[in-house]
Amino acid sequence: MSVLVVGTTALDSINTPKAKNPRLLGGSASHAAVAASFFSPVKLVGVVGDDFPSRYVKLYQSRGIDLTGLERVKGGQTFHWHGEYEVNMNNRRTLNTVLGVIENWSPKLPGAYETTPYVLLANIAPAIQHTVLDQMSRPKFVIADTMDLWLNVALDDLLRLLKRVDCLVLNDGEARQLTEDDNVVSALARIHKLGPRYVIIKKGEHGSLLSGPEGLFVAPAYPLKKVVDPTGAGDSFVGGLLGYLAAQKGGSPAKHLRRAMIHGAVVASFCCEGFGLSHTLRAKRPDIARRVRELEKLARF
Ligand code: AMP
Repeated sequence: MSVLVVGTTALDSINTPKAKNPRLLGGSASHAAVAASFFSPVKLVGVVGDDFPSRYVKLYQSRGIDLTGLERVKGGQTFHWHGEYEVNMNNRRTLNTVLGVIENWSPKLPGAYETTPYVLLANIAPAIQHTVLDQMSRPKFVIADTMDLWLNVALDDLLRLLKRVDCLVLNDGEARQLTEDDNVVSALARIHKLGPRYVIIKKGEHGSLLSGPEGLFVAPAYPLKKVVDPTGAGDSFVGGLLGYLAAQKGGSPAKHLRRAMIHGAVVASFCCEGFGLSHTLRAKRPDIARRVRELEKLARF
């Protein structure tokens, strides 16, 4: 079954202590859509300006991603994020964000998108996530991702959104900020009370935690010797997770969520090994299967 992904389709300029890479293809929707496309057909909802290179459009096309929902605004500037990492790659700061065409964007879904069963509201303003959900007809499973910015500037919209989604994905810092609780385990219970049946807390290189009606599950991250650029790892995780879920036949999403998290973690590991999408794009299904088997061995006791 197919997956609809909405989020930022961006140009990312990324500085690390070792290199500077300007205007790479990035954005929450780009990383998530490419990750999901390993497993399922993907429909993209996004917006770009005239400055969006045609080679990036070709790259989406090379993954079979449906671009009917990708708007191009004449005279507009594509969302641009400029970030910098410290030697410890867990520490990142935003140098500049240009909203460009995202600022006044209200997505209109192509008719053929409205019945897509799996929906990923990747990181973008919660008002835009609502607009997409308003146009969907009874999706089977909806996941929302978010970030600290929206907790700061759009908390009411975000709280309303939590009542409309099956699963919320956020990192441990954001969970603390949302609940004012320093303990992630008790924070999970508080987030369930806000609406979502499933909550996934990402902890970067330390893996992720799933909470739902079936209880808790701890998913490891794939241990990497070298991280080149972790930008988009969170989006790749959730995109891979939902793409895998959509590809499963039989049973409810709950039955497959644990394995879906492992597949998301593996796609995220490829993302971290190169700048932008470079290494995610190089990975093949057998590479993913190999790392999933390794994780299975590593976590069994
Ligand atoms: P992650 O590393 O998973 O947190 O995601 C990084 C991606 O998020 C980059 O490709 C950015 O283009 C994108 N991004 C940065 N700031 C924002 C924002 N305010 N809203 C949505 N996406 C953003």
